[in-house]
Amino acid sequence: MTTSATTYDLLLTGGTLLDPAQGINARRDIAFREGKVAAVAERIDPSQAASVIDVPGKLITPGLVDLHGHFYHGGTGSAVHADRNCLAAGVTTGVDAGSAGCMNYGAMKDYVFPAHRTRLLAFLHIGAVGLAANRVLGGGLHDLHIIDVDRTADAIKQHPGFFFGVKVRMHVDAVAYWDAPQAMKLARAAADQSGSRLMVHVSGTPIPLPQILEHLGPGDISTHAFNGNPESMLDRNDKIRPEVRAAIERGVIMDVGHAGVHCDVAVVRAALAQGVFPDTISTDIHIAPPGRTVYLMNDLVSKFHALGLTLEQAVAASTSRPAQVLGLQDSLGSLAPGMAGDAAVFDLREGRYVWHDMAGHNVEGKVKLDTFLTVRAGQVAWREGRLLQLGEC
Ligand SMILES: [Zn+2]
Repeated sequence: MTTSATTYDLLLTGGTLLDPAQGINARRDIAFREGKVAAVAERIDPSQAASVIDVPGKLITPGLVDLHGHFYHGGTGSAVHADRNCLAAGVTTGVDAGSAGCMNYGAMKDYVFPAHRTRLLAFLHIGAVGLAANRVLGGGLHDLHIIDVDRTADAIKQHPGFFFGVKVRMHVDAVAYWDAPQAMKLARAAADQSGSRLMVHVSGTPIPLPQILEHLGPGDISTHAFNGNPESMLDRNDKIRPEVRAAIERGVIMDVGHAGVHCDVAVVRAALAQGVFPDTISTDIHIAPPGRTVYLMNDLVSKFHALGLTLEQAVAASTSRPAQVLGLQDSLGSLAPGMAGDAAVFDLREGRYVWHDMAGHNVEGKVKLDTFLTVRAGQVAWREGRLLQLGEC
């Protein structure tokens, strides 16, 4: 709370700010006021702040933005509790990737998401009931009558700032190969009609990848882009397919959508060696079936750093870049004064760490980000293993 005696609500002192959008990687104090970043400087007088947290030696980044997760908790069998999975990982903005469709998004928007402090945004599934029956129907496009282009586009248009596009699952469990081209056309039509963008699940596709990518233009998102299924981004000789290069060149976003089963370390290594980097790192966080490893964002930043991205590149792919993909770069993804007061503070642990994928590959790294605290809208929302109440510090 701001009192007349103080200028700032909250002040973080002594940490190292890594903010790729501002080109800062240096010791900075950061002050918040009324939900936003108020000041960033080498020293800010602690007496000006109502509450001060000293974080010497810790890494401060803009609050992470997870471009692909599942947060319709209770609305679908596999969606997670957003705050427990986002704030604990330094994520302050979570984007739900099509858990709901045009017929069942109301409860997600009006009841489930408002119960969380994490900023929650969404892509609307082209299937009218989203992933409500994911475990049995895999995304549910076995009968294309479930697609209502007009209603989907109308819902997106009616909720600007909440819906950011259309999601379609091009997976063999979700849609038959004879229907897949039509499903892609309808998803494209809904995205165009709503003036938004398309996010396509490209792992385990029923049709060749080039037939999917041809529907994607600048700003559309290929999620699970680094999967190791037969129609991956690599050809038989492990070279990046020309259609993938062409998609990247015209501005299609290559998103990780890790999930454990949709990101193959061998594909990532081959892609990086050929100069293809993930635009955005995202979790595809969901309630995993037994035996499946899923990672939260702080672990994925660490894992991609271990795979060869600089820490700055990995943080950019988890902050400023996803903000830009959403068109929200003026408010999210950086800690410049005036931006949303969303920040993450990490302990940068050094040791020997191993991350897995479901193809059986391990990645070894020497650095791991452990979340120390998460600031959301200028207040501490998560600290050392615990979700805080509003106003707690
Ligand atoms: Zn997903």
